Amino acid sequence: MGSQPKLTLLFTRDEIEATVKRLAAEIRQDYRDKHPLLIGILKGSFMFMADLIRLLDFPLEVEFIRLSSYGGGKSPGRIKLVQGVQSEIKDRHALVIEDIIDTGLTTAFVLEHLGKEKPASLKLCTLTDKPSRRKVPVNIDYLGLTVPNKFIVGYGIDWNERFRYLPGIYTMESEG
Ligand code: 5GP
Repeated sequence: MGSQPKLTLLFTRDEIEATVKRLAAEIRQDYRDKHPLLIGILKGSFMFMADLIRLLDFPLEVEFIRLSSYGGGKSPGRIKLVQGVQSEIKDRHALVIEDIIDTGLTTAFVLEHLGKEKPASLKLCTLTDKPSRRKVPVNIDYLGLTVPNKFIVGYGIDWNERFRYLPGIYTMESEG
């Protein structure tokens, strides 16, 4: 049996809830009359997306895209699109919803891919950001929480499919 990773609470359920409320208020202001397309990046964003859209009381559409990456480790090497957006993006107001931005490579890939479809606007919302590890610049329009240079799990964000169910966000250290 491998040793258990050590989890330390970073953001409580209440702190996350307050953050999602703040982001929803900002997004509501900007998108109320725009019938936007909210595009979540699977799998990590599903919980954030679910909580966020419940706070948005105007017409919108939800899409998810899925990526695969090669290279292993906690950040991707080569990124490939596995499942794209079903709806037409051209001339729509698209808002990408991320769980975490680390090196920025995934987000840069997604924004470049979606940008080719000629949306009316293309913006980015992320629940968490780890700016210390950035490799490519990313412009974040709606930023939730800044995290230290540590591996995080919880609130939809996993480690090998574990810990997504946790209502808070934790830093994780593998022992041994
Ligand atoms: P990027 O480095 O391209 O900005 O982030 C790519 C992906 O790496 C994220 O979508 C996420 O799947 C993973 N990742 C980066 N940092 C962390 C972290 O602290 N915890 C977890 N669970 N995944 C992370």
